[in-house]
Amino acid sequence: MEKEKRKTIFDLIKEYFEAHQNQDIEHGPVVDFVEEQYLKLYNKKPRDTWRAIRMLYEEGWLIQVSKGIYKRIPGYNGKNFRAPFSSEIKEQIFKRDNYRCVVCSNGRHNGYEICADHIKPQAKGGTSTLENGQTLCSEHNLMKKRYGTTDFLAKYCKVMIEKSKQFKDEKVLKMFSEILEVLKKYGFKD
Ligand SMILES: [Zn+2]
Repeated sequence: MEKEKRKTIFDLIKEYFEAHQNQDIEHGPVVDFVEEQYLKLYNKKPRDTWRAIRMLYEEGWLIQVSKGIYKRIPGYNGKNFRAPFSSEIKEQIFKRDNYRCVVCSNGRHNGYEICADHIKPQAKGGTSTLENGQTLCSEHNLMKKRYGTTDFLAKYCKVMIEKSKQFKDEKVLKMFSEILEVLKKYGFKD
């Protein structure tokens, strides 16, 4: 006996949009439909329906008409922002950043390998767009992967240096200037 495929939230959303093709759809009715069907099928409320709709847009299955309004056009297959960076977007990111790591400024000009990094990681909903991309050298790319960030401490130091200058607070100014020197020693240049 063939086991019937378990319907997912995505299947239900697609069902709704396919029944209302070429129409501008607000998320309210879709969410209501999905919740009702899901409740009938599994006797529980679905989670993150709204997020799933956005993911279908980011994958190129839906068109975003305006904020919170989506449309399905039969056969439409838009850009998938949830895939890795396309080579085209990657090149745009590198060009915008002058082919240099945004943390340490090493790059093609002095023989360093560069990579395109998702500022907001894909696992957290970051998309493969120019706005969400930055150029990193392989060292800082690895650091980002391991520690989730590259430059928060240097940024923080610079903010504190500015503030301590305002308050003419020599001690705090000296402390953060020294920390910044240590960061520079390890490759965190301005
Ligand atoms: Zn770097």
